[in-house]
Amino acid sequence: MSTSVTITDTTFEVRNPATGKRVGVHPVHTAAEVNSAVATARDAAGWWASLGFAGRARRLDAWRTEITRGRHELARIMHDEMGKPISDANLEIVMALEHLKWAARNAERVLGRRRVMPSLLTINHAAEVEYRPFGVVGVIGPWNYPVFTPLSSVSFALAAGNAVVFKPSEYTPGVGVWLAEAFGRIVPEKPVLQVITGYGETGAALCRSNVGKIGFTGSTATGKRVMATCAENLTPVLMECGGKDALIVDADADLDAAADVAVWGGMSNAGQTCLGVERVYVHTAVYDEFLAKVVALAATVRAGAGSAQVGPITMPKQISVIRGQIEDALARGARALLGGPDTIDGQFVQPTILVDVPEDATAVTEETFGPTLTIAEVTDMDEAVARVNATEYGLGGTVFSRRDGRDIADRIRAGGISINAFVAHALNPSLPLGGVGGSGFGRVHGPDGLKEFAYAKATTRQRFPSPLALTTFSRSEMADAIVDRVVAVLHGRIR
Ligand code: NDP
Repeated sequence: MSTSVTITDTTFEVRNPATGKRVGVHPVHTAAEVNSAVATARDAAGWWASLGFAGRARRLDAWRTEITRGRHELARIMHDEMGKPISDANLEIVMALEHLKWAARNAERVLGRRRVMPSLLTINHAAEVEYRPFGVVGVIGPWNYPVFTPLSSVSFALAAGNAVVFKPSEYTPGVGVWLAEAFGRIVPEKPVLQVITGYGETGAALCRSNVGKIGFTGSTATGKRVMATCAENLTPVLMECGGKDALIVDADADLDAAADVAVWGGMSNAGQTCLGVERVYVHTAVYDEFLAKVVALAATVRAGAGSAQVGPITMPKQISVIRGQIEDALARGARALLGGPDTIDGQFVQPTILVDVPEDATAVTEETFGPTLTIAEVTDMDEAVARVNATEYGLGGTVFSRRDGRDIADRIRAGGISINAFVAHALNPSLPLGGVGGSGFGRVHGPDGLKEFAYAKATTRQRFPSPLALTTFSRSEMADAIVDRVVAVLHGRIR
């Protein structure tokens, strides 16, 4: 939409966080418009489902090609709307395409009808299970990964046979519009993927619109509001919420690789990553050496406009959250080995490394969403695990250890852990992604991510009458006696 349009009550503008320049104007869709989009999506959903897995896969593959051809334009919109460096935007698109491909290729295997074994008491019935689409799925997405994150729901919901109404963040509506327009060029027949734009109220209207399911990705606080609204109609929800992920560095870790992960995981995307490293716990034997490496590396990273490795903080209001956490930590005895509040300039926050931060400081307990790290020394891995698990969040995490990586990972309460690498579990399309506790529930990606957007439907077909009629008022005493004997044999002999 033109950027020279006058803003009214029915439109909103998007400004580039680095320059303040207006980069888009979009409609604020009302509840009536949202309901209308959902109504047309219902009609489209029947047609889309009728294409079958193969017909949908062909179109999803073509959409993937369309996105690939337009990727540089899409990356530019991402950069303009939320400030991400272009090269990071390109990388994000690649990640999203991998998952889109996987969803299209695997939907039939995971969701298609299959026979299951009958039990002894149901031996005369053939049994099948399949996973049916809900019809229309509403997807509410955040701005920090405006392609990867919503497509993790959108691609899987479409592959499962649903039509989708997508509400992108008010900071990245242009990305959502671009994706839906690209889809519309491939699937012009019906509005299978629509985008509605606006503020939180537009998202709330989507929650109230009687869609079959809401796939929500965003903060834990908003997630609670979304759940409350969805409860009005008993609309099921997928909750991909915030995190406070940690990196654990054991005494035998590859320190150069771990330092690289700390800096990239903590600072890339200006720290605005749900799975980003926000806390680091380091074995005392290697603490000083590791710290020196991280500080030296982070000092080479600069936040700035254009081609800087780190872009601006997207949301104006987040600056006070980041500043508040850093100042609170410093006031409580922490030290900034790099960065700090004085290096915050407008929407730019320079990489900041804090040590000696009390464990109950907000810099350790709450999502920062800025390019900051708290680094703490631990006496052993038991202490590291205990500290990592001491938050309400449980999204992901990283463990660096040559010998005990698996054992440490097993003890962390989180939806996914990558050992000796950063977020590898989120990049592998076969693996589920999601959290526990304050980080939400349900999964995107992999077989679980497909099943998230479908309901299980069980069907049996009697092949021959049972000699033992059980579900009838004319059940005989003989039948009861046989069942009694059978149950004793089947279930009564285990001690
Ligand atoms: P928000 O929670 O602020 O917003 C998420 C989405 O919800 C936006 O589209 C927002 O619209 C919409 N929304 C706001 N209020 C309501 C409402 N009452 N009803 C329905 N929808 C509403 O999150 P951010 O966009 O700031 O994203 C950052 C958060 O997302 C972080 O906490 C991050 O950790 C999390 N996240 C989690 C991921 C995961 O996989 N677990 C992945 C990526 C991010 P609007 O923008 O217009 O207000």
